Amino acid sequence: MKFDIIHYPCSSCGAFMVFSPKLGTLACEYCGNEESLSVGNQKALYTYDYFSKITTYQEIDYGELTKELRCPKCGGEFNFETLQFAHHCPYCETPAIIDCIHDTKPQGLIPFAITRQEAKEHFEEWIVSRWFAPNSLSEHFNNTKELMGHYIPFWTFDAHTTTQYRGYRGEYIEQQRIHRSFDSDGNLIKKKIGTRQIRWHRVTGELQRSFEDLAISANQDGVEHIHVNAVAPWDTKRAVDFDTKYISGFEAKEYRQTLPNAYKSAQRSLESLIKWDIKRQIGGDDQRIEEYTIEYKEVQYKYLLFPLWVAQFDWKGKHYEYAINGLTGKVSGERPYSAIKIVFAIVVVMMIVGGVWYSMGQ
Ligand SMILES: [Zn+2]
Ligand SMILES: [Zn+2]
Repeated sequence: MKFDIIHYPCSSCGAFMVFSPKLGTLACEYCGNEESLSVGNQKALYTYDYFSKITTYQEIDYGELTKELRCPKCGGEFNFETLQFAHHCPYCETPAIIDCIHDTKPQGLIPFAITRQEAKEHFEEWIVSRWFAPNSLSEHFNNTKELMGHYIPFWTFDAHTTTQYRGYRGEYIEQQRIHRSFDSDGNLIKKKIGTRQIRWHRVTGELQRSFEDLAISANQDGVEHIHVNAVAPWDTKRAVDFDTKYISGFEAKEYRQTLPNAYKSAQRSLESLIKWDIKRQIGGDDQRIEEYTIEYKEVQYKYLLFPLWVAQFDWKGKHYEYAINGLTGKVSGERPYSAIKIVFAIVVVMMIVGGVWYSMGQ
């Protein structure tokens, strides 16, 4: 299936403009020309009623679709995967954006606010704060070009819940009994022994809780999703109306997890939070929940894209992945360890412990 590429040629030099997180505008990397974006903050923050949407909700199964594209700059031909809608030409790096195929389009996005360079600085601070991380890794990362900006699709949910529950509140009862025994001379020895028992009281109750902007990742393909929850929270108040201009120069995918499935995931998350609430409300020393029913009301949703810098690289024969929140700079990744630093730390600890023993022996 052929798709046309949406692109933004610079009005003064004709090069392709990309979104600049620093300026918050479209910018030409060749001549410095800027084009401001009209920020209407309406649809991005608008919530849709889930139950009325779901009655007519239909999802077209596209299967595996090959999207055929032709670069407007170099004429090179390349493909996008089924749900990919923004990337770049593999031959000349020209940004390539196409229309979304799902009927439900992203209503808004949180624009990147952290530049590629700032993302690298956040990473460096993070890696330096990990004492055992090898110094040369941050250097290696700084030289890597594999730091890509991704817009990640999310469903967010608001809900008001009322929960009825039945269960038991456990209270500890301390009891003491006398233990009698005889010593080797035949004298009676009485010893008080404390035992703890739990007494269960039946309880019933109701609790209400409202949730706002519970974010459910809508596409689990690719490495970017491994870290996307670790760099939360996402300030959805910063979302602006969806406009492909914000995506120029970045990568983006549409949702794979459908709205009803995302709602099920949201319910699972809410359920575990509500169970905590029930236990807190039951009180006592221990709690048992026998049965509960949750009623969901005023369920609202939004379909948004969140900004994430993602790095992947190999270093000393091992593959590393890091992600940086494109709004806050929060970093997530596997922590590598420097063997030399660990050995050094062990030696220092042994010297300290050895010194303590030595002084105790004096
Ligand atoms: Zn230009
Ligand atoms: Zn090209």
